[in-house]
Amino acid sequence: MPRLIADRPVLHMTSELGRVMAAARTRELTGERVIHLERGEPDFDTPPHIVEALAKAARDGFTHYPDARGELSLREALAEKLARENKIRAHVDDIVITAGGTHALYLAIQCLLSAGEELLVLSPHWMALPKLVGFAAGARYRTLPVYLELLAGTWSPSEFGDRLRAALKSETKGIYLNSPNNPTGAVVSREHLEALAAVAIERDLWVLADEAYEHILFDGTRHVSLASLPGMAERTVSIYTMSKSYAMTGWRVGYAVSPPAMRPAMAPLLAFYTTHGVFPSSQIAAREAVAGSQACVEQMRAAYEERRGLLLVGLAGGRVHAPVPKGAFYAFANVSAAKGARDLWTMVDEWLGFGVAALPGTAFGPEHGDWVRLSLATRAEDVAEGARRIAKHAGAGAAVPGTPRAAEPQPVQRARA
Ligand code: PMP
Repeated sequence: MPRLIADRPVLHMTSELGRVMAAARTRELTGERVIHLERGEPDFDTPPHIVEALAKAARDGFTHYPDARGELSLREALAEKLARENKIRAHVDDIVITAGGTHALYLAIQCLLSAGEELLVLSPHWMALPKLVGFAAGARYRTLPVYLELLAGTWSPSEFGDRLRAALKSETKGIYLNSPNNPTGAVVSREHLEALAAVAIERDLWVLADEAYEHILFDGTRHVSLASLPGMAERTVSIYTMSKSYAMTGWRVGYAVSPPAMRPAMAPLLAFYTTHGVFPSSQIAAREAVAGSQACVEQMRAAYEERRGLLLVGLAGGRVHAPVPKGAFYAFANVSAAKGARDLWTMVDEWLGFGVAALPGTAFGPEHGDWVRLSLATRAEDVAEGARRIAKHAGAGAAVPGTPRAAEPQPVQRARA
């Protein structure tokens, strides 16, 4: 037999999320009920006015080959949104519509990283990053844990800057920043961003600013876009997506905003030859999402904030402790007391035994073996019940009771991320 998967490490990587979901599914098929706190997909349906816009666009003939840069009317609406909300002044030709934020990151990484060069990935980081760097031939990444410290408020901006400086090597060409952060819920303050910007300018680095969760903020916390800071627009690629703000995960619409110098490669080569653009009707619907009423964004944000409260209250008094997330829809919880000397996966299996699926922290960087991610993107009753079970049973060892059973198997789950 010929070898059918090439000998490139990225093609042999596995997914922790896939492993947890498969284990949960196996239990569900035998009638057990599992509360899904491992997934990162909004449980809300896409708001109806956006769905209607898609249907109308399809009827109106937005069904032909797209412009690889994206529909002009969507890019115009986004240029306005970027100026108004993000304080980023972008030319429409520097906005490329992509198949979700994942594809935007893929294009940016392909464009930016040469063989032998390194991306410094601030961590814990979204689990796609190692794969996305792996697809760039000869490029590497290294992690620098920062978000738990930033969330705890233990680093001043100047200390943050010093940590960044100390981590850089001559081959480091760029930094991957993700605020609001998946998985910790840290939101990097303007002052800390200014410290990062100072380092980037001093060391002539570019920055990949992943702002996928820009609208999901708690306690009145404000999101600042890195590219809005002086001197940063020309060295920052900003990544956005419709997936989280508008519950449009399946629509695959995101965008990258990049410096004009990247124009010749981003759309005509990278977007064109990877996807040939995004379904035009989806893009017209995305325009409706961006230009229409934002009430749905606020409703979903408020629901996540309420669930955050339920999670924290439910965990109180147990052996699992989560720093209070300020944004995104996750809590990153420390499980060292509940895990004891056991392996993290053994603990995650124990949790499945009492009906809670959680994602091991090692999915977000090897340093996070004492952590799990708990998602708020599931209905409030499940968040509350999941937290209650964790507080009651996690680490109770032999005292863990039999698994609760539901009358019917649960439907097949299709979510990811
Ligand atoms: N960035 C981060 C930090 C994410 O968590 C995700 C999805 N979970 C994405 C980007 C990409 O999402 P999508 O491809 O659905 O836009």
